[in-house]
Amino acid sequence: MAKSRYEYVKNFEQENHLLPDCHIVVRVDGRGFHKFSKFYNFEKPNDLRAIELMNKCAELIVSQFDDVIMAYGDSDEYSFLLRRKCSLFERRESKLVSTFASTFTSYYVALWGRYFNGNESRDETRETTEERKEEDMKEEERKEEERKEEERKAVKSEPRDDSRDSRSNELVIHMLPTFDARCVVYPNAQSIRDYFSWRQVDCHINNLYNTTFWTLVQQGNMTTQEAEQRLSKTVSKDKHELLFTEFGLNYNNEPDVFKKGTTIVKEFDTTGLSQRQVERKMKKMGRVRVMHCDIIRDGWWDERKWILE
Ligand code: ATP
Ligand code: ATP
Ligand code: MG
Ligand code: MG
Ligand code: MG
Ligand code: MG
Repeated sequence: MAKSRYEYVKNFEQENHLLPDCHIVVRVDGRGFHKFSKFYNFEKPNDLRAIELMNKCAELIVSQFDDVIMAYGDSDEYSFLLRRKCSLFERRESKLVSTFASTFTSYYVALWGRYFNGNESRDETRETTEERKEEDMKEEERKEEERKEEERKAVKSEPRDDSRDSRSNELVIHMLPTFDARCVVYPNAQSIRDYFSWRQVDCHINNLYNTTFWTLVQQGNMTTQEAEQRLSKTVSKDKHELLFTEFGLNYNNEPDVFKKGTTIVKEFDTTGLSQRQVERKMKKMGRVRVMHCDIIRDGWWDERKWILE
């Protein structure tokens, strides 16, 4: 195609090709989910519907991209590990972050109803092409206009928690979920191990705090300020003790999905295969497994050497 005289502006684009032979992690995180979770009345400290929705979105991404070998997530975040030799989007950072953020967000929105209203995604039914009478069409158009007008107003006005029907959990236009994303490049296996340990320890610390905090509020009838005050300057051991002596709750018996977060990994059965066969197999889709376990210990990685190859 002939080049136009405007084409030189393309040269202003800057591309960051992530270092070859290094491990890439893409982490997505919900924007303002503290507020978002309040707005949609998430159960505290852990709304299982929200966790399962996050896990489903991540699982779909792991399945969709051959180069994603593993994922780990909790709360409103997920980290995706790409194969060291991955050449997805020529390792262009902006392509990677924008695609992961938007793909994750799309799945989250599309599947919301399934987890929060027990519906199938509304869009799946909207496509049905049934014939409508002309009056119906006009009625639809009128409603559509009204709806658009409401949306215009809603977008302009400040979000208000009481501005929606509390019986329904439909997503509303002025409080939609969005996710940011970043890429981080790690030079070796140890730094990747440390990265995932860091995220899992973070999950543990937050969950212990949140569990204690919300127990004080929900069962100890404290205000949120009082609970915060009560927990200031406490260490991990104090929280365990508080939960046990005052509420008879053994933190260790809390579900693993809350304590450990969720790990999704592609697994391959390579027993009896030659090195070449293994390499060929690894390029294809592995079996996607979802688990809630300790990924800090060596054993977990020793059993899955392909992740860091
Ligand atoms: P930012 O935009 O900077 O990420 P944020 O409000 O999303 O701000 P985060 O540090 O990402 O803050 O924390 C996410 C918050 O979302 C948690 O603190 C918690 O309040 C809420 N949240 C996320 N998942 C759940 C869940 N499954 N159940 C209950 N609350 C949740
Ligand atoms: P990439 O992922 O690299 O962007 P792509 O398939 O999206 O690949 P583009 O160069 O972005 O390629 O081109 C978008 C294509 O989408 C167009 O070539 C056209 O085929 C299709 N398309 C986009 N908008 C419309 C539209 N309104 N009507 C019909 N086709 C459209
Ligand atoms: Mg944050
Ligand atoms: Mg967030
Ligand atoms: Mg977060
Ligand atoms: Mg395109």
